[in-house]
Amino acid sequence: MAPPKLWSSTAGAAACASGARQSPINIAANDVLADCPAVAVADVAIQVAPMAIEFFPAACTFGELVIEPSVKNWEVQFTGCAAKPHIEVSARTASEGGAGADCRRFHFHSVSEHVIGGGYYDGELHMVHANADKSKYIVIGVMLAANGNLRDNTEVQNYWARLAVKAQELVAPPAAGATEKPVDQKELGSQDQEPVAADADVADPYAMLPAGTEYYTYLGSLTTPPCTEAVTWVVMAEPVTVTQNEMRVFRESMAKAHGSLVDQSGSNSRPPQPLNTRHISLCTL
Ligand SMILES: [Zn+2]
Repeated sequence: MAPPKLWSSTAGAAACASGARQSPINIAANDVLADCPAVAVADVAIQVAPMAIEFFPAACTFGELVIEPSVKNWEVQFTGCAAKPHIEVSARTASEGGAGADCRRFHFHSVSEHVIGGGYYDGELHMVHANADKSKYIVIGVMLAANGNLRDNTEVQNYWARLAVKAQELVAPPAAGATEKPVDQKELGSQDQEPVAADADVADPYAMLPAGTEYYTYLGSLTTPPCTEAVTWVVMAEPVTVTQNEMRVFRESMAKAHGSLVDQSGSNSRPPQPLNTRHISLCTL
């Protein structure tokens, strides 16, 4: 598979090149409608009314999560949970998937994929929700700002620490017959990579949302092939803060595993795509 800029030539991913509602986008102040009007894609007559979103974290524990670093990102899946976290969205039409959507997985990008006001953040979290037949998606994007040793969200740390350990095994698997490889704490960024939650604790992805409730919404696509144009995006306006160490460990892990969807520097982000005729609406949860 080709690197991000060449996805348009990927077999089976025609939408990456020819679609009218691709993601991510640059969220430029001039294009944002601040009073939360319905968003639309004029050419295909799709319109989504302003959404009130309710979050239901369910009762999945950290021990039930499928922790899955891969060659393109760090991913956490809820496939092992009896009840997945889910959201209920008001005023969402059947043609865009209806009111309910399960959180199937979340993953991370660095740098951010969405650009807000011309600026990239250090990273972006994507919580991928799908309706029952998996034909429509709501993806919640949260910007990650790396700032020294500061952290304003311990839930991110709970997942990040577990992903970092798994990712190290991926790029440097233990030799056959070897006992469990000890984790190099220096490599992982020392004690700030320790999770603060135990395996038996409830894993609530929505605890990673920022305190601020404003979000940008628009109609877009998945940001990796096949770039399916069936996503209502909810991009939180306020970032959460992670440590520079956490971001460094992620980038290094990606760089080591680099390949078709990750460049040499460890960036696994697709660049912004044309807005075309779309609206971006600024709303509040
Ligand atoms: Zn993503």
